[in-house]
Amino acid sequence: MSQESRLIGAGLLAMIFWVIFGLCCVILIFDFDMLSAEQIRNGFIDFFRDKAHEVVPGSPMVPVGDETLLFANAGMNQFKDIFLGLVASDYPRVVNTQKCLRVSGKHNDLEEVGKDTSHHTFFEMLGNWSFDDYFKAEAIEWAWELLTEVWGIEPDRLWAAVFAGDEADGLPEDEEAAKLWTKVTSIHPERVLAFGKKDNFWEMGEIGPCGPCSEIHIDLGPEMCDMKNVPGHKCEVNSGCARYIELWNLVFIQFNRQPGGELLPLSAKYVDTGAGLERIVAVLQNKPSNYDTDLFMPIIDRVSDITGHKYTSRLGDKTDNAFRVIADHIRALTFAITDGAAPSNEGRGYVIRRILRRASRFGRELGMHEPFIYKLVPVVVDCLGDAFGEIRERADHVSTVIESEEASFGRTLDRGIEIFNTAAKRAKKSKDKIVSGEDAFQLYDTYGFPLDLTQLMGRERGLKVDTAKFDELMEAQRERARAAQKNDSLMAVLTDTELPSTEDIQKYHTDSCDSKILGWIDDDGFKNQGGIQTGAQVGLILDETCFYAEAGGQLGDSGLIETDSAEFVVEGTTKIANCVVHRGKVTRGSFAVGQEVKVTVGKDRNSIKKNHTATHLLQWTLQQVLGKSVAQQGSLVGPGYLRFDFTCPKALTGDQIKKVEELVREKIAADLPVTSCIMPRDEAQKLGAMALFGEKYGSEVRVVGIGVDGAERMSEAFSREFCGGTHVSRLGAIVGFKIIKEESISAGVRRITALTGPGLNEYLEKASDIVDELSTILKTPSEALVDRVGRLIKDNKKLSKKLKSAGAASGSDAMTQARGLLRDCEKIGEAHIVIGVLSASSIEQAREAVDMLKKKAKSAAVVLGFEDDGKAVLLAGVTDDLVKRGLKAGDIVKEIAPIVDGGGGGRPQMAEAGGKNPKKINDALTKAAEMIREKLNV
Ligand code: ATP
Ligand code: MG
Repeated sequence: MSQESRLIGAGLLAMIFWVIFGLCCVILIFDFDMLSAEQIRNGFIDFFRDKAHEVVPGSPMVPVGDETLLFANAGMNQFKDIFLGLVASDYPRVVNTQKCLRVSGKHNDLEEVGKDTSHHTFFEMLGNWSFDDYFKAEAIEWAWELLTEVWGIEPDRLWAAVFAGDEADGLPEDEEAAKLWTKVTSIHPERVLAFGKKDNFWEMGEIGPCGPCSEIHIDLGPEMCDMKNVPGHKCEVNSGCARYIELWNLVFIQFNRQPGGELLPLSAKYVDTGAGLERIVAVLQNKPSNYDTDLFMPIIDRVSDITGHKYTSRLGDKTDNAFRVIADHIRALTFAITDGAAPSNEGRGYVIRRILRRASRFGRELGMHEPFIYKLVPVVVDCLGDAFGEIRERADHVSTVIESEEASFGRTLDRGIEIFNTAAKRAKKSKDKIVSGEDAFQLYDTYGFPLDLTQLMGRERGLKVDTAKFDELMEAQRERARAAQKNDSLMAVLTDTELPSTEDIQKYHTDSCDSKILGWIDDDGFKNQGGIQTGAQVGLILDETCFYAEAGGQLGDSGLIETDSAEFVVEGTTKIANCVVHRGKVTRGSFAVGQEVKVTVGKDRNSIKKNHTATHLLQWTLQQVLGKSVAQQGSLVGPGYLRFDFTCPKALTGDQIKKVEELVREKIAADLPVTSCIMPRDEAQKLGAMALFGEKYGSEVRVVGIGVDGAERMSEAFSREFCGGTHVSRLGAIVGFKIIKEESISAGVRRITALTGPGLNEYLEKASDIVDELSTILKTPSEALVDRVGRLIKDNKKLSKKLKSAGAASGSDAMTQARGLLRDCEKIGEAHIVIGVLSASSIEQAREAVDMLKKKAKSAAVVLGFEDDGKAVLLAGVTDDLVKRGLKAGDIVKEIAPIVDGGGGGRPQMAEAGGKNPKKINDALTKAAEMIREKLNV
């Protein structure tokens, strides 16, 4: 090779090297540049932390102590009481990420999921908050700064929308915000638009805090429009297509919507913003859809591994749609179940069940007939477990719950399909070829079939669905839900100026104290003047109390409030914000505002204390015996008993229950001390204090520890829990402990009911009475009872066996008779009509006889009757060939049962009836024969 060609070769090699090197750099730089979802979430938090915002946790997705809301659907839910002025905020500015679920009530995006690129059931809402601190100017300026300067989104892609005003509500346009947009940001004035109430006035629910808002939308480019073929579609902000997506909503809370619809101004002003993390991640990762980001792709890839199908990221594609729905739903399920929801038939549980069923049904589209969704839980944990440690901790529980529900829906789905088939047959016969709204609603309501599924299945058969009727039935159901929500209306009319605070620290120290009446709540609301007389039923409000208001699973106290001449019996105690309400009745004399009273908690308080401390002991002990995966799911502490719900995949064995009881009793016998103290939340968390996922936001928490004296030694306590309840000061006071029931309440969740104190005494007394009574009845001393009963059971078994064989002998008689009937029966063509009375029989033997006759004759209509204990029994059986000819056992029985004064029914192949008049059996059989002849001769 010449020198020249060697040089050229070397030159070429060098060039190839540099090209590859250059490409690698581009790829590296590109990847390096692309922020991960985690970095984007942290970027938001850090940005506002730098602007003096306190970082606080989001609330659990299943709201605690707020029955008006099924799931957290926005960041503001947990701050509702602050906006209402009922409680003060610990900080003037906060920032957080909130787990949201929009599948029910006012915000429901379920039907959107999978069809578009940006609506999920579960999503993270990033938010910055001002509690009567900064207002519109800063909120707008900072949002713009973060999006355009920190994250580098070109200003020309962004649009702002402000509130255009509303005549019916008497609200003017939000000019202040409109002006600020052009003043404090670099947005082009033409890109500030005004929209009406639907888009730019934010309300959490039917009632409560609300206000105008400014939204920031992004233009993703004309190629993203998915409505090009929709006649009249105009591609613009709020037109519903995938080109314009809302990223961030800045809500300026300044009103409180009343139950009648009226808007009252709030005494202070608040900023509440919400930015959808998934949407921002898609923009910053330069992806056309949220599903293409690192928040969803790992889940989609796993679905692909399991099912063998490929995801191609196309909207409107059936298979891709199934991928998206499943990836969305598993995130929702993982978070909702972690936070304490469990599939069931009502409320929250029903919402979870529907999501799961929907995911399962879409799984069938990917050819999955066996449970598989539960296998996606670990991927969700990989994606989000660092930001939300709770899903990592509860992953096993979540998988167990999902797998068991998937398995049971496999069965329900098949049954639903059967019901659909029957409905479809009916529809085919109808004039308009429409599946009735009632059927669609039943499928939706009972079998978890979303309307779109019923419509889809209908279309395959050329049928429509009566959606108007369906909507009407849905509306009726919603109406019922709304009626249930109204109970909360009291909250909305009670604002800061109306409800006083009650000092209730004495509940931890004493059972009685002196106080003063501040007012009461009756049907019309809060009263702070005048008086109440004997018989009045109210919620009494005092300036100070030692009553414990229901919270954290512990029931509220009962007791007495009295003066020398009057008495108010307290039946229960609840808390509204910081106000303790003593619910009860004036039983003597009268009370007036300002009057001094004596407050005394009833004796149940002591039993409640015992049960509450025992509940803590029980939780600790369960973790010792079953392992750390035991997590509290709920509890109820009353005077009579305690109940503790916890995650555990299997029933406890007898040995485990014994061990738990022994360990609890051991601690009680050691008479260890119980200590409580208030400490900063993060310090308590560092100590490892157990908290039910469901504590409300607050910087300080009360911790109850067992095993040490004095708060300074809290770190040495063996049991430490976040708890606001009342407790005994030493374990010895509990005296005894017994588990009386261990049961399952839903998949993966067990419930223990246990007794202490007077409840336990009562139980033992009753048990001892039962033993005494048995002893007398069986004439056996108590220590020999077990032996005696064992022998009785054995004898009983022997006797049953004897009876059975005697029965079998007479059964063979029934068989002989039946065979005789077949031999002599009438025939029409090939069909045998076997009709007759059996002399002695049981229902089991008669059923066997019908089956035998059908098998033997091959083609037969059998009707048998017999008398049993003074009653008439009729059975009919028809072979399939005759059923096809329109002869049905169920029809025969329905026709002839009234003759013996009875009723019955069954399937076309087999049916039964009972009646009061055995004398008419022969008449009934004659009628049956006529019916059969008539049908078969046609
Ligand atoms: P859209 O009109 O797109 O449904 P929205 O008006 O219902 O949004 P808000 O209630 O203002 O949204 O919520 C605040 C932010 O939360 C939105 O700007 C958006 O980024 C995000 N968001 C709302 N709904 C969803 C959802 N279903 N899935 C993902 N993100 C959402
Ligand atoms: Mg919405």
